[in-house]
Order: sequence, then structure tokens, then C-alpha cells
Amino acid sequence: MYDIIIVGGGPAGLTAATYACRAGKTALVIEKNAFGGQITWSPRVENFPSYVSVSGTELGDKLLEQAMEQGADVELEEVVAVRDGGEYKTVVCESGAEFEGRALIIAAGARPRTLGLAREEELTGSGVCFCAVCDGAFYSGKPVAVNGGGNSALQDAVLLSEKCSKVYLIHRRDSFRGESKLVDVLKKKSNVEFVLNASVTKLLGEDELTGIMVEQDGRERQIDISGLFVAIGHRPDLGVFSEFAELDGAGYADSDESCLTKTPGVFVAGDCRKKTVRQLTTAAADGSVAALAACAWLDR
Ligand code: NAP
Repeated sequence: MYDIIIVGGGPAGLTAATYACRAGKTALVIEKNAFGGQITWSPRVENFPSYVSVSGTELGDKLLEQAMEQGADVELEEVVAVRDGGEYKTVVCESGAEFEGRALIIAAGARPRTLGLAREEELTGSGVCFCAVCDGAFYSGKPVAVNGGGNSALQDAVLLSEKCSKVYLIHRRDSFRGESKLVDVLKKKSNVEFVLNASVTKLLGEDELTGIMVEQDGRERQIDISGLFVAIGHRPDLGVFSEFAELDGAGYADSDESCLTKTPGVFVAGDCRKKTVRQLTTAAADGSVAALAACAWLDR
């Protein structure tokens, strides 16, 4: 039996583990994909305090190393159910493994939003991508497009412009939500074309993506590309945990200032929590707050 089980091994979950262990509690972090979470998709992080510039994977590795150094156990498993036994919760994993914890911190993060286009799922991995860091190298020397106007899209476009022959940056507005510093970098690149006030309406190609149809200012345009990187934000990944918290209209888990949900002993941290700013720094902040609140709850 663990004192605290933390579901999600991103910055929120790993920071929670570090704080829980340093407070003398036993902690298990369960992650289904990659420790470090979404940040492992960022080629360069330049807004995390104390790092002038660091790759997302390096930062993720450091967070994991730090939590384990403090004594956290980690498991690479997908949680498929949680049984509420009152004073403790049983977390059931896809492999059949079960873990018991007296407190639970949900730090399950968010998953990429999709465009909702016909054949998007079928072409995912065959031209449609959601992670430039993971898949960008497959498109070296080829033309690609990035769709989105936030920091993820801008960072993806910068990264891809270094290896692809051409990058179309498609955004539905004429201004960007992401940092202007990144926009300025992209404006100086000769192989980047801004396609603004535009939406992708159709994916072209049989087994592999060969192009897209784009509607721009009321007119249809075909753009021939090998890869489309969709970077239009994320949606919370609460799945089996949704019964423990009130969810807002967009599916984010409500909590009080100590990250406590409506369920005693169940806390929420990071990008799946209802809040206004979703950044690495606020994920780490949530993790520490949730862990200390969980410790206080255990010691009550
Ligand atoms: P985001 O900031 O939510 O931006 C999503 C973008 O996609 C927006 O420009 C939005 O357009 C557009 N969009 C949403 N739905 C769309 C649709 N159906 N069709 C077309 N476009 C659509 O998401 P993000 O870029 O993934 O960033 C998430 C958070 O992580 C942000 O706070 C960001 O700053 C942060 N982040 C930080 C780093 C870093 O620190 N290194 C790196 C990446 C991301 P509108 O603007 O029109 O709404």
C-alpha cells in the first residue's frame, strides 16, 4: 500500500512525487506513455526557471531522475479503472497489475486535439502527425504544413523549417496566440509560408497523405505536402478519473486552491486541472501543492 499514487508522469506528477517523498511519504507514479509527458514533444524549452535553454526530453529525464532519487517508485502502465475503497483506492492497470494508495493525485495531462476531418485517424502516422519532435525527421527534405497558432505550432514550424524543404504555417486567424518572438523567427525563414485566415478542409492521398485542401478568405486552395503537423491544442485526458471530480464544460477537473477534488483524498494537478494558465511552471506548482495537501490529508 502506497501513501500516494500519482497517475501521470509529466511535470505535475513527477514534481508531486518529489514533494511527497521529501515529506516522508511513499509514492508511486504511473505513466502510460513517456515520463516527462507533453514536454518531451518540445524541442527547446526556454521559459522554465533556471534553464536558459533545454530540450523537452532532457527536462523530462531530469524530472524523473529527481523523483526517483527522492525514493519514488515508477511504473509504465495504463490505468484502466480505479476502485474507491474509501480510506484507500485501488488503481487497476491494463496489464492486470493493481496498486493500492491512501491518496490519489490525478496528473493525467491532456491529449492532442484533432481537426475532425474525414480520414484523419486513418492517415495518422501516414502523413498526419501530432508531434514534430517525434516524427519531424521522417519528413527531411520534404514539404510539410503545420496547423495551429499557439506556441506548439510555432515551435513545430521552427523545428521543421530546419529540416524540411518548405513549411506552410496554417492558422485560422491573422494573428498568433503564441509568442511573438517565435513568429519573428519564422518570418525570417525563406522556406516558411504563412497561410493565415485559413482552415484545412480536406486530406488528400490514398494510403499516404499527399496534400491538403485549404480554405483561405473564402477560396479553396490545394497545397501539396508529405506531412501535416496538427498542433491545435489539447483536451484533458481524465477518462476513468472523471467520477472523482466535477468537470467543467471543456472537461477539466475542478478543485480547490489545494488541488483537492470533490472526493476526499483525491487531488488533481497539471494540465487536466481547471485553471487559466497551463504552463510547465504551473504544472510543477500544482504538483507541489497537490502533494503537500495530500500529505496533510494523510496526517489529518
Ligand atoms: P494553444 O495555446 O491552446 O493553441 C492552440 C491553437 O490552435 C490556437 O491558435 C487555436 O486558434 C488553434 N486551434 C484550436 N482549435 C482549432 C481548430 N479546430 N482548428 C484550427 N485551429 C485551432 O495550444 P498549444 O500551442 O498546444 O499550447 C498549449 C499550452 O502549452 C500553451 O499555454 C502554450 O504556451 C504552452 N506551450 C509551452 C511551450 C514551452 O513552454 N516551451 C511549448 C509549447 C506549448 P485560436 O488562437 O484561434 O484559438
